[in-house]
Amino acid sequence: MEECIYLDYNDDEYVDKDNYKILLGCTNTIMFEWHAKTNIRYVSKKFFEDYIEEYRGRDILDIVMEDSIIHSEDMSKFHAFRDEYHTGKSNVEVTVRMKHKVTGEYAWCKWMLTNVYDDEDGSIKKVVGTINNVDEYMKAYETLKYRAEYDSMTAIYNMDKFYRECNKMLRKGEFPHYAMISLDVDKLKIINDVYGNLEGDRLIKFIADIIRIKAEPNVIYGRMHSDVFAMMMGYHHEDEVMRWINKLTVLIQNHQKKYEVEVFFGILVVDDTSLPTNLMYDRSSIARKQIKGSKLQNYAFFNDMYRVQMMRDREIEGEMKSALRDGQFVVYLQPKHDIRTKRVVGAEALVRWKHPVKGMIQPSIFIPLFEKNGFILKLDEYVWEQTCKTLRDWMNQGYSPIPLSINISRYHIYNSNLVEKVVGLVKKYEIEPKYLELELTESLFLDDADSLYKVLYELQKFGFLLNMDDFGSGYSSLNMLKNVPVDVVKLDKGFLDEVLTTEKGKKIVQHSVAMVKDLDLKVIAEGVETQEQLDFLKQSSCDLVQGYFFSKPLPVNEFLEYRLRYDKLD
Ligand code: C2E
Ligand code: CA
Ligand code: CA
Repeated sequence: MEECIYLDYNDDEYVDKDNYKILLGCTNTIMFEWHAKTNIRYVSKKFFEDYIEEYRGRDILDIVMEDSIIHSEDMSKFHAFRDEYHTGKSNVEVTVRMKHKVTGEYAWCKWMLTNVYDDEDGSIKKVVGTINNVDEYMKAYETLKYRAEYDSMTAIYNMDKFYRECNKMLRKGEFPHYAMISLDVDKLKIINDVYGNLEGDRLIKFIADIIRIKAEPNVIYGRMHSDVFAMMMGYHHEDEVMRWINKLTVLIQNHQKKYEVEVFFGILVVDDTSLPTNLMYDRSSIARKQIKGSKLQNYAFFNDMYRVQMMRDREIEGEMKSALRDGQFVVYLQPKHDIRTKRVVGAEALVRWKHPVKGMIQPSIFIPLFEKNGFILKLDEYVWEQTCKTLRDWMNQGYSPIPLSINISRYHIYNSNLVEKVVGLVKKYEIEPKYLELELTESLFLDDADSLYKVLYELQKFGFLLNMDDFGSGYSSLNMLKNVPVDVVKLDKGFLDEVLTTEKGKKIVQHSVAMVKDLDLKVIAEGVETQEQLDFLKQSSCDLVQGYFFSKPLPVNEFLEYRLRYDKLD
């Protein structure tokens, strides 16, 4: 049998000159050594053949620098490498471009230096270095890196790289101010359709070129996606931002005369540099989207919108109390119809603000603010009281009552004595609790089920109807409905719009309705606008519908007329 001996190449005994030659040869390695005791240098012949014109007994690290063999751009890197090696570190390395003396071409080479120490006194015995040509590897790496960092069409940064460069810029902090600017080409889709995709691409490249050519070092830029670019600008005065935007606008609009190009800019003045750069970009986009298509102005500052919103909020807050006192808040009723008989079987109370100067203000403007500042408690109590009063008025006038629903904000569950308040109201106006329906938005049921359920069980015990509003708008699952103390589930308008457009969506609605009904709950659909939707809901055995198809929310007196008219038609 043949014998096989395992070699330990770390063991001095096995050092074999042939192996050494083979290794250096096939790895194309240049080797050099310096022996401390004798001060003799050894350098592979290949080093002379490839790089050196004149040796003059110099240190090889000096030669490559003095004779400009190292690429000028890599020189500082090489200096750092040499300094690191002089600190006595045992292994140091660097990859730089070196000029071949025959071809004159540069190739990437990796240098490694190892200090070998004396076992006895720990002093440096010798230094051994190697130089390897790693050009192919580096070129492949550069290509990959390039692909990962640059947009292939325009050759400017892609989104990821752009964000990274922004972070770098912000960290450096060379400028007193920064702005995130996004740029969008208007109607690129039309240009693609009319003049062809090639023309659309040409335009995108043209814009990228303009940005690249004109951008000073204080501007970093990249292409985010299709026709959207982003720029981060460091500046001293705000007019620098405006000048840059105007310059780009003019240059882009003058591209050629075949068709007009409009560009829109959104700007975030960065006042918090710790905000993630993607959020900075999002904000600049929000501002831009506000004015897209506008003929008046092609830029918008996010900060202005924010300021405007804040100012509007402050204004509302300044007026809300007196508005409530002066009766500017008015309750409207939106009819709920039985899907089969079409009779008006209920209504939802929705508040409006009849402002003496600004006119009718919709609740989406002020309710979210009141939910933040707590004024919703006062406003809702008023709305609920008006609703109960309406029921009492009807009964006094001899009309049969129908359930009216009121909206309950999250705030009430945790900050007020909800049960006491509504019980107090039905007692005061002598109404049976079953005529008051409480609408609670779906997301409330995900908060803190224990305290919510406690309140809901109590309300049910008194006989109030409970309605889960906006079902399907968020995260509710049919599964969760099993345990929820509600009587009615209201399908959200968005849910309906979205799902009714596809076959799969239709199935989802059908199954949702079936399951809700299986649990002995009533189903109402809100935001019903078309006959088609109505027919589909009827087929799906939905019980009630509410929406513009029948009526918008109406002032109370108009609602009464509406109800009487509808019920007579029957
Ligand atoms: P909500 O409770 O989901 O009310 C339904 C909203 O959809 C109402 O908007 C209603 O006018 C609208 N709507 C009804 N049918 C249709 C339709 O067919 N198409 C479309 N596009 N919209 C329809 P509104 O009155 O602007 O109320 C907005 C939200 O403000 C309400 O959403 C509710 O969350 C809140 N809100 C309104 N009044 C009050 C209130 O008195 N108290 C509380 N806490 N919140 C209220
Ligand atoms: Ca509602
Ligand atoms: Ca709703």
